[in-house]
Amino acid sequence: MLIGPGGAGKGTLAAELVAEDPTLWLSRSWTTRPPRPGEHERNSYEFVDRTTFTEAVERGEFFEWAEFLGNLMGTPIPRPPEGADVLLEIDVQGAEQVLAKRPDATVILLLPPSVEAQAARLAARGDDEEHIARRVEKGRQEVERGRQVATYTVVNDDLRQARGELAAIVDRTRTAALRAATPEDT
Ligand code: 5GP
Repeated sequence: MLIGPGGAGKGTLAAELVAEDPTLWLSRSWTTRPPRPGEHERNSYEFVDRTTFTEAVERGEFFEWAEFLGNLMGTPIPRPPEGADVLLEIDVQGAEQVLAKRPDATVILLLPPSVEAQAARLAARGDDEEHIARRVEKGRQEVERGRQVATYTVVNDDLRQARGELAAIVDRTRTAALRAATPEDT
């Protein structure tokens, strides 16, 4: 799981990671939030209304879901291709729910290098000032709670470097999982 405050660069890095690694599969979330410019074209989310979302919750179709700044966000039960590992880009409440089901899951907390850089990234994607202030404040809480559950913390100052660090964590996680699944030599 990739978690962290808005403006940390989770979406960009998640997309780059799966583009480089065909055995890593990124879940596509559902949201009741209205799309930002360009999001429809990028197929970022399944954009649905609240009724459609809550009906899917009642049918048990979500692996996890949470309310974030007034909008519902949720991960449908993952159906990755055979042999692929699952990457979720979600908020900290979602990460806590996933850990309750899968305590062996890895959580990476992605941080912006500074509040100024975070606010600039939020502005660049079209959020207005009030939204930016709310997201920065919400981000502070995400980081505080995120530190409790994070297996790794990565600062996204330089995008290439952060991508390298994330790819190394994915490798390390796979190696550890393989070791755990292989019986020791006698
Ligand atoms: P945004 O509005 O910036 O796209 O997303 C707001 C927050 O919701 C971000 O922290 C993002 O990671 C999180 N989020 C996106 N999809 C999901 C999801 O399926 N479940 C949960 N719990 N959070 C999500």
